[in-house]
Amino acid sequence: MAEPEQVDVVVVGLGVGGEEVAGRLAEAGLSVVGIERDLVGGECPYWGCIPSKMMIRAANALAEARRVNGLAGTAQVQPDWAPVAKRIREEATDTWDDRVAVERFTGRGGRFVRGSGRFEGPGRVRVGDQVFEARYGVVLGTGTRPSVPPIEGLADTPYWTNHQAIEVEELPDSLLVLGGGAIGLELSQVFARFGVRVTVLEALDRVLAVEEPEASEVAAAALRADGVEIHTGVRAERVDHDGRAFTVRAGGSEFTAERLLVVTGRRAHLDELGLDTVGIDATRRFLPVDDRMHVADDIWAVGDVTGEGAFTHIAMYQAAIVIADILDRARHARAGADPSGTASVVGGAMGAASRLGASGSSGSAGTVPRADYRALPRVTFTDPEVGAVGLTEQQARDRGINVQVGFTKLGSSTRGWIHGVGDEGFIKLVADADQGVLIGATSAGPAGGEVLSGLVVAVHAAVPLSQLRHMIYAYPTFHRAIEDALRNLRSI
Ligand SMILES: Cc1cc2nc3c(=O)[nH]c(=O)nc-3n(C[C@H](O)[C@H](O)[C@H](O)COP(=O)(O)OP(=O)(O)OC[C@H]3O[C@@H](n4cnc5c(N)ncnc54)[C@H](O)[C@@H]3O)c2cc1C
Repeated sequence: MAEPEQVDVVVVGLGVGGEEVAGRLAEAGLSVVGIERDLVGGECPYWGCIPSKMMIRAANALAEARRVNGLAGTAQVQPDWAPVAKRIREEATDTWDDRVAVERFTGRGGRFVRGSGRFEGPGRVRVGDQVFEARYGVVLGTGTRPSVPPIEGLADTPYWTNHQAIEVEELPDSLLVLGGGAIGLELSQVFARFGVRVTVLEALDRVLAVEEPEASEVAAAALRADGVEIHTGVRAERVDHDGRAFTVRAGGSEFTAERLLVVTGRRAHLDELGLDTVGIDATRRFLPVDDRMHVADDIWAVGDVTGEGAFTHIAMYQAAIVIADILDRARHARAGADPSGTASVVGGAMGAASRLGASGSSGSAGTVPRADYRALPRVTFTDPEVGAVGLTEQQARDRGINVQVGFTKLGSSTRGWIHGVGDEGFIKLVADADQGVLIGATSAGPAGGEVLSGLVVAVHAAVPLSQLRHMIYAYPTFHRAIEDALRNLRSI
């Protein structure tokens, strides 16, 4: 039985959230062990945000080139996937090799261990035949994996998840996509713009069902214009693969394609973490955390595993809170161990805490920030982009809020009209009439994700509507449409 090794902090899972926590704590001088079983950096750089946005950049270039006809002459477009695959392989992922990321972490002073970490009692984590005992605690940043629905036959077929869709070198002729959420729509539009015949099957009655119904309509219309077939309200019942093609039986119809992509959500795998040894229920879907990311005493969680929103910016936001909380704890430990403040133990927690006190870096007693998701922004990077923040109209009504709604189509704004082809989109505002502030907003359009930023500030800082109405909006920007939507705010 291995003798446990004492360290300050153990971080299990070095995705975006875990790597940020482990790297920043190590940089601050704590002894940190970071455990990762796959690639340091996690889903976002290798199979998520970054490569998918490279694909979208390429697909949007094709779409813009096709818009030359009628706007600026004629253009003939010949899509070629090879440069996209090359860019993902060489620029984004180093052919799915994390050497650079590992060096980035160890260069910040962290100790890296490759393997699967699991609890072996309070404060103790086993990875292979090593056991670490954490003085301050353990941070879980173990993320999620694709959740594959229990559809008859599916498990026995060579279906794709986002991993195969991102790694693809040669595009199929046709693709069935199970799931019309953000990831399903982004990838569907990319492949369609490169000439793949794409069919989306969504069980709910609309795509992008977590967002405003108007956003679902705009996104569905855009994808249909790119040739994507969309079927909503159809639940896949059976999947077969005959060696060449997939057949999905759904809602009394059969759909066939060369490839099948399953993007029906994601799930944390808590059962692998030995949580029973620290008294935590591992049967839940996600790990519930408080507003300082505590799962339990001396256990924190960050990122997708918390279920607070599967976004890189949430993982980073939560990571900043965990870092401040742990550094605060280290500072207190130093103060307790050395009330005179003269100790200068180099290395380990004491040395780290001395450095923290000297540098006055983020977090101090009572000032560790608390998580607040009221103004959580989210962007679906379809073309048009759908940016959203805070509550949808329906969510606000369900909470009994005295709701006002303001809506305007982008095409009726000066910039939308100038833009012409490709100007589909809108601004929708959801206000709390009693408080006189915005509590949610959606900006769909060619730059919907960028236009969103002003709306995020408005929701986050609860800027009074009267102030928003009296701001100066640059002419002729897309974001100037916000002014029109504000003018249209009313109770309906
Ligand atoms: C196709 C796609 C596109 C996306 N696009 C965007 C986007 O545009 N914007 C955005 O904000 N978000 C996007 N996301 C979501 C984003 O990728 C995630 O929110 C983010 O990666 C979450 O980071 P994380 O640190 O929580 O988890 P992950 O990135 O999932 O990392 C968790 C890590 O923990 C490791 N691990 C798990 N268990 C163990 C264990 N027991 N021991 C050791 N290691 C373990 C895993 O191997 C993994 O590397 C996208 C996701 C996908 C799939």
